[in-house]
Amino acid sequence: MLDCCRYPLATPRLCANFPAVTAAIAAPAFTFEVLAYGLLVLGVFLALWLYTDRRDRALYAGRRKITFHCIRCDHLYTQPPGTDTAPCPKCNHVNTRLKF
Ligand SMILES: [Zn+2]
Repeated sequence: MLDCCRYPLATPRLCANFPAVTAAIAAPAFTFEVLAYGLLVLGVFLALWLYTDRRDRALYAGRRKITFHCIRCDHLYTQPPGTDTAPCPKCNHVNTRLKF
């Protein structure tokens, strides 16, 4: 008796003469179910990711600010996005945005 009959998973190449054992190793019957379940789980995670990303963008869209530092009076202030220069609210000196 070959070793593949006692340990079919350890030696699949020796089982060419035993089609039942080879078929059981090569293609399990639940392959489609496992694939469908994996795709379903991936789809759920993708949907949750898209939902939270859209929610966060909607929540923090109005809170985003650009930080400016006045080089004359050392004042820190913010402006809405889309501006590269802004006047200081204290001394009215025009400063460029801080870049990190
Ligand atoms: Zn200033």
